[in-house]
Amino acid sequence: MLQVNRRGKAKTVLVAGGAGFVGSHLCDALLGRGDSVICVDSYITGSLDNVRPLTNHPRFRLIEKDVCQFLEIEEPLDQIYNLACAASPPQYQADPVHTMMTCVAGTGNLLALAERHGASFLQASTSEVYGDPAEHPQREDYRGNVNCTGPRACYDEGKRAAEALCFDMLRAGRVDARVPRIFNTYGPRMQANDGRIVSNLIVPALSGKPLTIYGSGTQTRSFCYVSDLVSGLIALMDLRPNPGVPVNLGNPGEFTINELAQMIRSMVPGRTGIVYKPLPKDDPQRRRPDISRARELLDWQPTVQLSEGLVSTVEWFANSLARRPRRQATASRSHLNPTASLMAPAQG
Ligand code: NAD
Ligand code: UDP
Repeated sequence: MLQVNRRGKAKTVLVAGGAGFVGSHLCDALLGRGDSVICVDSYITGSLDNVRPLTNHPRFRLIEKDVCQFLEIEEPLDQIYNLACAASPPQYQADPVHTMMTCVAGTGNLLALAERHGASFLQASTSEVYGDPAEHPQREDYRGNVNCTGPRACYDEGKRAAEALCFDMLRAGRVDARVPRIFNTYGPRMQANDGRIVSNLIVPALSGKPLTIYGSGTQTRSFCYVSDLVSGLIALMDLRPNPGVPVNLGNPGEFTINELAQMIRSMVPGRTGIVYKPLPKDDPQRRRPDISRARELLDWQPTVQLSEGLVSTVEWFANSLARRPRRQATASRSHLNPTASLMAPAQG
């Protein structure tokens, strides 16, 4: 249904990270309900391919920009979603300083933009704020078990700092900020080579190559289909009044990585083998969201079962791999990397 702003007009919504996996589905949904959408992305882990079908849409605009840099938008903004951040462990660890700066400087820039426009703000946080959790399932009042000096810290601590910025701006009455804590999400438009478990299992399975499982495969995750996540993000952004607390968004079904691998193997022809490799440092052992708060505040819960969502995802990857290699909207890291100006390594 068309949402109108205080001026009685259709809303203008900025989606930072809108060319990414989740962001591109969010852009689709917002356009679908009548909003105008401005997508800001550096393409560091996303792809122009994800939003290419939208580029001729009269209510869609694309800005190539790193959010660590100052950003101004002329037209009035009603809402800002900040999804800009590498999300897969290999990708966010590839340039950890940039990941941390994206979370802190990038979120700071976008909060300042929201303040100037009087726009509501949604910060995509993560189940990683709970680290390798000592409490299970994870409720929002659990404060987490994060190694602040480990290889995941750039993301975990970056997202925790971003949450702190949001709640400080909210308490100060400066920005109407909202914080969903997103648990593992999957679906069409995941990058084939992003290193996340769902793509890392489906792509070799479709090519008849062995699947790689880290550790014993008994670690667990809870997998949410992307359309369910997007409806939760929009519900939290539109909720009045602002709940003033973080909200877990995820599917409470919990599966071991071995179970996930077996499900995917059963969905593709042939029978690929499994290779076990060492577990990466600080890899969380168990993860499952308690979504009581989302149920109560947003009347939200996932509707897509893992078996159902995996079928669509496997189909999408099969079609996508059968086509020519995806064009990557390429901007070189050195060109885009804000650490070049903010925290450049010493030369010489
Ligand atoms: P993604 O990598 O597909 O999308 C992130 C997008 O942000 C990409 O298009 C990337 O190019 C862009 N980006 C990254 N750094 C940027 C910067 N400095 N400036 C401008 N653009 C930048 O990842 P995703 O899975 O779509 O995740 C979206 C958001 O949701 C992220 O913030 C992530 O932390 C959060 N999240 C995702 C999951 C998940 O399972 N997908 C889980 C928890 C949290
Ligand atoms: N994993 C795996 N094989 C892979 C990729 C990941 O066994 O090819 C494991 C990883 O060690 C973790 C789980 O799958 O225990 C989920 O990993 P992912 O990178 O998707 O996200 P995380 O939830 O750890 O951020």
